[in-house]
Amino acid sequence: MSALADLREQICMFARALHGRGLTHGSTGNISARTPDGGLLVTPTGSSFLTLDPARLSLFDAGMTLVDGDKPTKEMPLHRAFYDTRGASGAIVHLHSAHSVALSMMPDVDEDDFLPHLTPYPIMKLGRVKLLPYFMPGDAAIGDAIRGLAGKRSAVMLANHGPVVAGKDLEAAVYAIEELEASAQLAMMTRGLNPRALSEENVARLVEKFDVDWGA
Ligand code: ZN
Repeated sequence: MSALADLREQICMFARALHGRGLTHGSTGNISARTPDGGLLVTPTGSSFLTLDPARLSLFDAGMTLVDGDKPTKEMPLHRAFYDTRGASGAIVHLHSAHSVALSMMPDVDEDDFLPHLTPYPIMKLGRVKLLPYFMPGDAAIGDAIRGLAGKRSAVMLANHGPVVAGKDLEAAVYAIEELEASAQLAMMTRGLNPRALSEENVARLVEKFDVDWGA
């Protein structure tokens, strides 16, 4: 199987897995990944993660012209903004996952560090997650907001909408966004119960040992 055909299968496999675990629903969520020749393979607009057809994924060439497949997700501006500002990104995943969205609506969330420091993995896999304001889906202003971060964050949370995570490849992006959602779930489960979080020293040691990009 060619590398491109393999990537088509991988996107559909991870999408089905995310859908099967209830991490996105209906026709929400979208995935993009760098192709071997510098183009992009993207999930089509209106498609369900459950029933993606590998042959109908939107294929862009390296000049970002659509050359094959269905019309891409209307949330292309946020994908493009990540690739333009984080050149090493191999894939971007966006979900409408319930716990992350719930946490984004809580009144006292830290916009600069969205996830409470409850467990080590989200710190290691995501660094600090930036909470961005609410935008209309597909609004080009989402792309502008991501560009405004100048590539310093690999993960953002769109308030009242859903998380977006960039990774070095598709597997890394999927694992990282699963970490984000699991961490938001823990935060919602323990909210108001005064949980013992990691200390600032614990966090600093993780950032140092795992060479975490803690953002500026
Ligand atoms: Zn969305």
